Amino acid sequence: MAIDLRSDTVTLPSEEMRDAARDAPVGDDVYGDDPTVNELEAAAADAVGMEAALYVPTGTMGNQIAARVHTDRGQEILVDQQAHVYKWELGGLAQLSGLQVRTFDAGESAVPTPEQVRAGYVEEALHKAGTGLLSLENTHNARGGTAVSPAEIGTAADAAHELGIPVHLDGARLFNACVALDVDAPAMTERVDSVMFCLSKGLGAPVGSMLAGSEEYVEKARRVRKLFGGGMRQAGIIAAPGLLALDNVERLAEDHENAARLAAGLDDIDGLRVPDPDTNIVQVFTDDAGLTAEEFVSRCESVDVLGGAHAEYLTRFCTNLDVSRADVEAAVDRIETVMRD
Ligand SMILES: *Cc1c(COP(=O)(O)O)cnc(C)c1O
Repeated sequence: MAIDLRSDTVTLPSEEMRDAARDAPVGDDVYGDDPTVNELEAAAADAVGMEAALYVPTGTMGNQIAARVHTDRGQEILVDQQAHVYKWELGGLAQLSGLQVRTFDAGESAVPTPEQVRAGYVEEALHKAGTGLLSLENTHNARGGTAVSPAEIGTAADAAHELGIPVHLDGARLFNACVALDVDAPAMTERVDSVMFCLSKGLGAPVGSMLAGSEEYVEKARRVRKLFGGGMRQAGIIAAPGLLALDNVERLAEDHENAARLAAGLDDIDGLRVPDPDTNIVQVFTDDAGLTAEEFVSRCESVDVLGGAHAEYLTRFCTNLDVSRADVEAAVDRIETVMRD
């Protein structure tokens, strides 16, 4: 069987999740009648220390709703040049909310300095639409699953608030950051205005993400979710596994240990350069071997190890709850053989 390290989204729902889906009490959630969705929204709000939360089908929809609610058309959104919301969401900020993107380079820290926030800020004026939102990301996906501390998130958020702009946190893998740094999620989100996190990544749910914020914010987000076509009916069927996924937070530590082992094993192979990961994302640089990521990925595929080419010489592997320690050891051994040839 292939060892699938393409993403932490490839996990299959457990038997318990399948049972929970079948047995979930449901109702029409557009009418607010689905007890399972209501329970999940309350649990999610509680988990991240926000007043309320909204169940959305995907992280992308959560981020796009967040941006739409915080801003007016034509405004600027300030984001890292490697941010998911900018790079991997089909220009949705422009298409769905009429926003212009202004980027900064967060570098290795994966979070802007207060100076970068101030430098990127545009004040509304006769000829200027002005900045409407700062969006942060934690863990930072494209920068290698970087875990950003609550202090750094808070400092960036404070800089934005001093300029009068709200802050959204793309926390698709928020709990990976929390587990890696041993902090509670509410500490991580204390100084931001909204946060999105995915149930369908490391936490192992088949579907779904949460967007959390104040009561008032989530009420507005509910209308925008409807606008974007995300008003779901008997959604308790998919929300029930999401409730179980919230129990998978602590075990993310295993994924992080497996990622560290994978990185160390691969880094020992000639031609591969593999930085120590903060969380469950392992970045493999193959430029020393003169091997493009596509070539490397296809060599790995030939021995049933799956990864993703993310840049010309950068391959990403992602540990997840369907990948055991033995799988990781096997992946290292198999990749060693294909690199020897
Ligand atoms: C995966 C991801 C998303 C989007 O989530 P989907 O459920 O795939 O739409 C958003 N932000 C980050 C940082 C992600 O890694």
